[in-house]
Amino acid sequence: MILKSQQMGKQFMKMDISSYDRTKSMRKAMKNYDKYPLYLYNSLSRKKEKFIPIHEPHVGLYVCGPTVYNDVHIGNCRTFVSFDVMYRYLMHLGYKVRYVRNITDVGHLMDTGEDKLVQRARLEKLEPMEIAHKYTQRFRHIMSLLNTLTPSIEPIASGHVPEQIEMVQRIIDNGYGYIVNGSVYFDTKKFAKETGQYGELSGRILEDLLAESRELKSQDEKRDPADFAIWMKAEDGHIMRWNSPWSEGFPGWHLECSAMSTKYLGKTFDIHGGGSDLKFPHHENEIAQNYGACRTAPANYWIHTNMLLMNGRKMAKSDGNTITPEQLMSGESEHISQAYHPMSIRFFFLQAHYSSTLDLSDDALIAADRGFRRLMNSLKIVKNLHSDHFTGSPDHPLSVELVRLADQCYREMSDDFNTAKTLAVLFEMAGKINEIDSQIISEKDADPASVKYFIETYTGFITDVLGLQPIREEGGKIDEVIRILLDMRQKARQEKDFAQSDEIRDQLAKAGITIKDGKEGTTYHF
Ligand SMILES: [Zn+2]
Repeated sequence: MILKSQQMGKQFMKMDISSYDRTKSMRKAMKNYDKYPLYLYNSLSRKKEKFIPIHEPHVGLYVCGPTVYNDVHIGNCRTFVSFDVMYRYLMHLGYKVRYVRNITDVGHLMDTGEDKLVQRARLEKLEPMEIAHKYTQRFRHIMSLLNTLTPSIEPIASGHVPEQIEMVQRIIDNGYGYIVNGSVYFDTKKFAKETGQYGELSGRILEDLLAESRELKSQDEKRDPADFAIWMKAEDGHIMRWNSPWSEGFPGWHLECSAMSTKYLGKTFDIHGGGSDLKFPHHENEIAQNYGACRTAPANYWIHTNMLLMNGRKMAKSDGNTITPEQLMSGESEHISQAYHPMSIRFFFLQAHYSSTLDLSDDALIAADRGFRRLMNSLKIVKNLHSDHFTGSPDHPLSVELVRLADQCYREMSDDFNTAKTLAVLFEMAGKINEIDSQIISEKDADPASVKYFIETYTGFITDVLGLQPIREEGGKIDEVIRILLDMRQKARQEKDFAQSDEIRDQLAKAGITIKDGKEGTTYHF
């Protein structure tokens, strides 16, 4: 899937944007990222900054993945779709991206000190690794339904225990870790004192963080409540355990991301992302660990996605204000009136900027479903448009307008991946496509190069960048049935049986299918 998409991206990239800028046509082709430099909001500096990769054109992107102890939460689906769009757009701009998203299958403890996976394994009477495998498969299935690309590397925490042990050792050697009864703790206070950096990302001061520290199990072993475990000695009966120089045990949850991002992207890489709920303690501790082990900050840019609400409130199982991805797609929930196609759900996520909260409701989903279908109708029409049929001049106001709209897509996405504003421009473009289709706009007005750029941008942004695909059923059996009806109508017209041909057209209209007779035959859209 990734190969196909990257190839698609490459093909699209072959379209030389500068060739539309006729004054520069003789100059060296610019990369899209030169023409539309990317600005992103860096959670660490709390500023929008110009994105400058460490090793252009290569970009390292690390995103905290799921803990595979149960089904993925719909809020996390929004997060992963948001980063999928960032990944796609970075590639579309011409960067070569290594996208790493981990799978946590060990060390993520509950407040009680019990490993989330081990607890689930006990409840389901399965081995912890069976739980990890089962929910990893289910996670990947949901991700593929939502049309997210597979990351370049999807490392699994339990497959990287030697790397984590090595990192703990380096932290101890550098004086930021200490051993108590076979467990190893990170000396947060020392790190904070030396660097003044602990709490920088989450914007909180150490004293606040101390008050919130909830690692109950190991409280009495720590020198300071803000310290956290990077290696835990396993108690008797704890199933997931590995040998280490300190004890038979398991790594702390925060450690895996530090170890795996360093292994696959280097000590300092470009972008680290995750949900905003991970800022503290997870990301704060990752920064501390990387500094403790490597003496460097792990990432230059931090991106955090905001929360998904439902009916204006935080989702919570306890009061029933929650819905699973499966329920959304099957319609089996009291909160919704119908099943929603994964593409409509994806479209719904993209309607808000990733850093804003988004409120899921039945009404909002109905509106998103309609909006998605409108864009797709225009996509169907645009596939039948031929730029070489256009005979106008590049200076005609229509040509100028088409180029402006296409450029605007890049400007909005390059402004901190603003999918909401990009969609607004795509709707404007859909309006133009419908005007061309209904011949309100004449083919004599715009010039072929501007139309080509316009068409390729519209198509490329919808399918390659935003990752929206036409719903298959419409192009499958239903398509065949409509074609049969259109052939019958054509035959009736040839036989001058206009009552019959009108009847077919009217019945199709009743079913919400509009047909149109044009130079190239009869087309239809929903
Ligand atoms: Zn992480």
